[in-house]
Amino acid sequence: MMSSYWQNRAAQRELESQLISSKYLSRMEEQLRTAQINIIQQIETFYARYAVDNKISYAEAKKYLTAKELKDFRHTTLQQYRALSLEGNPAYDRALNAIGYRARISRLEALHLQIEMQMLELYGGRNGLQVYTYSGLGEVYENAYYKSLYDIATFTAIYQPITKLTNGVMKEILTYNWSGKEFSKRIWGHEARTMTTIRKELKKSFMRGRSLHKTARAISDATDVVLSRAEALVRTEANFFHNLAAQNSYITAGVNRYQILVTLDHRTSEICRAQDLKIYATKDYKPGVTAPPFHARCRSTSVAYFDEAEYMEGEQRIARGATGQTEYVSRSMPYEKWYQQFVQPANIDKPQFLRMKEKKST
Ligand SMILES: [Zn+2]
Repeated sequence: MMSSYWQNRAAQRELESQLISSKYLSRMEEQLRTAQINIIQQIETFYARYAVDNKISYAEAKKYLTAKELKDFRHTTLQQYRALSLEGNPAYDRALNAIGYRARISRLEALHLQIEMQMLELYGGRNGLQVYTYSGLGEVYENAYYKSLYDIATFTAIYQPITKLTNGVMKEILTYNWSGKEFSKRIWGHEARTMTTIRKELKKSFMRGRSLHKTARAISDATDVVLSRAEALVRTEANFFHNLAAQNSYITAGVNRYQILVTLDHRTSEICRAQDLKIYATKDYKPGVTAPPFHARCRSTSVAYFDEAEYMEGEQRIARGATGQTEYVSRSMPYEKWYQQFVQPANIDKPQFLRMKEKKST
């Protein structure tokens, strides 16, 4: 039986990961709000230019740009976007090339491109959703990995040097495809789906003669979904990377078994209730089967498991500590001090732990 102090500590670490996710999600929300404002402004301009009685018919929307408008579009709008494409995102180039060399462009196509550029910026820009997801999950992983090793060290009183996580290792970890598709590909899937909805809503507006106000409302609703999709993805992925970090910490520290810990409240799923306190061999780690996440938005976690003998051994070791009193070393070694003393730069840029068998992405 493991102590509740120990289990609470692991639950606390899972909360830390949730807080890191929340921090990045609120940055994503800010970016979404900015993109929404820009998109609505573009639609306002479109209405200001082409609406009659606050309506634009589908036929009007599909009219080709005049020679002058086309020239402006090429020389101003496209030039601006080409400057953006220098940021090195191939998605910009694809969108621009699809339209850039056409002899004629309709008003609606021009509007679609303007909106698509906002969306590409929102997802793929320097402060875009993809970057935030990547950094957020990286921070979740690193924090969980080191904290778990620290917790194990202080619990067992076995202190050993830890190899620092390098960028190369983090890159390999973050592209791990555990659910059929790596998360960055799924983020771009969100972008494409949102763009499809926006196009449909605009078409609806022109077919039905919806006012600017109603169109703006419809586009706001269609783009609000961006955040809930991002949140579902980040929460589930954060739980996965949190638990992968714990798993790798067990391998690093030579812990052979771990125990599942489930947050029990009204939101806890049946599948997780059934997993609570189960003990698995570290070598049998399989996300969704022997380790969280067991489902989307799972909040379960795991903790290193020591049986009675190992636990007692740890306690004796602690009892033989400098003060001669039975005392957890953790209380005398803060995390920062442990990190300074035991986390050492890597001399090889390769993970020594868990070589993961990846599913083939489809
Ligand atoms: Zn769960």
